[in-house]
Amino acid sequence: MSTGKINVTADNIFPIIKKFLYSDHEIFLRELVSNAVDATQKLKTLARLGETSSELGDLKIEIKVDKENKTITVSDCGIGMTTDEVEKYINQVAFSGAEEFVQKYKDKTDGAAIIGHFGLGFYSSFMIAHKVEILSQSHKEGVKAAHWTCEGNPEFSLEESEKESRGTDIILHINEDSEEFLEEARIRELLNKYCKFLPVPIKFGTKEITVDDEAAVEGEDKKEPKKEVVDDIVNNPEPAWTKAPNDLKEEDYKSFYRELYPFTFEEPLFHIHLNVDYPFDLTGILFFPRIKPNMELNRNKIQLYQNQVFVTDNLEGIVPDFLTLLHGVIDSKDIPLNVSRSYLQSDASVKKISNHITKKVADKLDELFKGDREDFQKKWEDIKVIIEYGMLSDQKFYDRSAKFALYKNVKEQYFTFEEYKEKIKDLQTDKDGNLIVLYAAHKDAQHSFIQRAETKGYDVLLLDSPIISHLIQKLETENEKLRFARVDSDSIDKLIKKEEEVPSKLSEEQIEKLKPVIEKAVNKEKFTVQMENLDSNENPFVITVPEFMRRMREMSMTGGGGFMGMDNMPEMYNLVVNTNNDLVSRILEESDESKQKDMIEQGTKLAMLAQNLLHGEELTSFIDQSFEKLKS
Ligand code: ADP
Repeated sequence: MSTGKINVTADNIFPIIKKFLYSDHEIFLRELVSNAVDATQKLKTLARLGETSSELGDLKIEIKVDKENKTITVSDCGIGMTTDEVEKYINQVAFSGAEEFVQKYKDKTDGAAIIGHFGLGFYSSFMIAHKVEILSQSHKEGVKAAHWTCEGNPEFSLEESEKESRGTDIILHINEDSEEFLEEARIRELLNKYCKFLPVPIKFGTKEITVDDEAAVEGEDKKEPKKEVVDDIVNNPEPAWTKAPNDLKEEDYKSFYRELYPFTFEEPLFHIHLNVDYPFDLTGILFFPRIKPNMELNRNKIQLYQNQVFVTDNLEGIVPDFLTLLHGVIDSKDIPLNVSRSYLQSDASVKKISNHITKKVADKLDELFKGDREDFQKKWEDIKVIIEYGMLSDQKFYDRSAKFALYKNVKEQYFTFEEYKEKIKDLQTDKDGNLIVLYAAHKDAQHSFIQRAETKGYDVLLLDSPIISHLIQKLETENEKLRFARVDSDSIDKLIKKEEEVPSKLSEEQIEKLKPVIEKAVNKEKFTVQMENLDSNENPFVITVPEFMRRMREMSMTGGGGFMGMDNMPEMYNLVVNTNNDLVSRILEESDESKQKDMIEQGTKLAMLAQNLLHGEELTSFIDQSFEKLKS
């Protein structure tokens, strides 16, 4: 037997491990099970190379909780360690690894958060155990088992011992304040979180299953279904993403989705299977969820794995922001584990992986669009938020999206932007050569404006995404001589100005005379009166919402930086008075002032109705007054 002092250059790290890193104690299990997986995989490799004479046998890992003796044991049938190896790997390698880790992160305020994602190795077990034992039998022939004990201080003991079978048992004697981990349910929860897809079967207790009694002969009485007690294997060692896409059917992807999110009932819209081994390693399956407008966006649905070991479900900065809205799994051996998040974000292979994923997503969308456009259009409303978000945040994705990003008009027809420009270019180019894209945000609320545009033969897009004002801005920057105008932002003749001027019915003097009369009759704070020469068929009064102001407001409301405070601005409207409409001439000619005022008010209210601006008391009294007038 040897006893000794673990070589400590820094102060004793055990108190730091125990006390400082308090918030993520649970990762000890992930660390120990990962080590057990590594030991098992190493043995398999040796066997393949013919470098061990040991029989592989059943290689499962087992977790046992002994509530009475307050221990948790993690056992594997892997490569094992000799006493010399324990001295080397546990006393030196693992310890210095843990020491380095603590040195690096003990002063970081976000230390706990980092540890949540990147492990601390074997010594993390001292977060929850006051004493740890290792009992290990190497695969090598003729060597004795090793028994290492350490009580959470630099002193350890290491002696030769007896162990029947090959492999390693890590026995944790649980602290008084960590007894939550002696609850079966808690361990099950952790296994489910961290070990669900580890590549070696993990047993946690047993379970009873019903088996078909094959011996039952036809005609015989139906027997009671036969029960059998079997190992409870808590993980799926061969999750879908580790298989070749060719070996999977649509149903396999769906059932993998259910495996990932057992509490989600919605089915995904489609999947993207990532499968690269050169020049970097990346596998995974991403799912496009259905995203309804105004739905709360859930960002932590993609899980990042390194070789089937769960790392994190917070991919902020690791994949482009818009992709964090997808669901699924990404697994890469090239993602460095034991580093901080900020390092990860600037890591070259992480960047490559991120670019690759973006490209793959675009390729898949393109493929779906080309393969079955009609079906793609059906899905569009559910996926557009993610795609539009991507177009705004990633220039490469924006460029690629030109092939499949769709725009729907109020008649429910879908176009790519190129197709749409082609469709409207003849009628909707103004006298200065600008192509004007007309759009509405609500089909019903802006119905009268849409109709006005349609009688001119114009087409109107229906743009109702939450971030649409940003996308419009982007499209205007990317397309020269092209502007978007919402149908209610000006009178239709002004929206798309054409060469020919409408002859004016009223003279300059008459207009000058009428304007102050109208201004006096309406709420000046709310409306700016504009006298305009419109088609005589246009309504006498039209209320418009100036495009620029409205867009700035919308952008500041959806986080458009730089327009802060705009959302507190009062809404401003233009009251457009059509000087060519007969009613306006009649108002001018009316000599009874109160009748004149009445006509203006009535006309303004009707224009407000068309803009959905009459509510509450104002609406009720307008209706009452109108009925009164009908009676007289
Ligand atoms: P890491 O796993 O990152 O190398 P650890 O501190 O977890 O660091 O472990 C240090 C070393 O101890 C491992 O690299 C391995 O050689 C050895 N080791 C740990 N657990 C086992 C085990 N269950 N079986 C065999 N060797 C192990």
